[in-house]
Amino acid sequence: MPRLPSLFVSHGAPTFALEPGLAGPALTALGRQLPRPEAVLVVSPHWMTPAPRVATSAQPQTIHDFGGFDPALRRIHYPARGHCALAGRTIDRLTQAGWPAQADSQRGLDHGAWVPLLHLYPDADIAVFQVSLPSGLDEKTAWAFGQALAPLAEEGVMIVGSGSLTHNLHEFRSVHGPAQPYVRAFADWVREAVEQGDRARLLRTLEDAPNARRAHPTTEHFWPLLVAAGAADTDAGLPPARVIEGGVAYGMLAMDAYAFGAH
Ligand code: ZN
Repeated sequence: MPRLPSLFVSHGAPTFALEPGLAGPALTALGRQLPRPEAVLVVSPHWMTPAPRVATSAQPQTIHDFGGFDPALRRIHYPARGHCALAGRTIDRLTQAGWPAQADSQRGLDHGAWVPLLHLYPDADIAVFQVSLPSGLDEKTAWAFGQALAPLAEEGVMIVGSGSLTHNLHEFRSVHGPAQPYVRAFADWVREAVEQGDRARLLRTLEDAPNARRAHPTTEHFWPLLVAAGAADTDAGLPPARVIEGGVAYGMLAMDAYAFGAH
């Protein structure tokens, strides 16, 4: 089976479900262009555990893991089925790679998974299962976690790291209007790194990119980018990513997505 691309998507705020902006239609177009996977594996920072867990539910529930937003969001459900067999393969692959993983038959889909999937696969006709983001990652281990998942990309699984290209929630309620210049500067720097398939530069993002600490005061929404890149990395190098421009939501949430290894 040909190797599937891996994706990084910015899930933004839960309101992205109701306000597609630029990113929503761009993800829908991407979903139509990419080869159709047998299942989508999502790693989201809204499910973090000390050691990896893999959701094995045949029919994962939609989790409304947020408060204070439009009540209409709580009525949205994403009815995709799960994929027990490929979730089981994932547990095997992770364990073989030194990440002992456990099955979780109860876990549903958090908003880091279902909100972008509403746009990427609006018909919910592709199976989805989540893998938790291990806590305590750093650049190297986030990348290695993606590499541990990589063999699944040759078994019909599309690996999706769902985070946010910028994520300073202290500014969420206070900043409105046009994109903050620092958000653009950070997003442009990362864009160059992924377009060039520059592994070393990407691994140094939090040290070297302009305004990195302002863009990511905490790192959990950044690690899914390195997980997605790690999942696409090969002996031949990191394939360049196709950039899906998503604009900037609320002036401070860069919404770009990347498809590593997509032609
Ligand atoms: Zn989030």
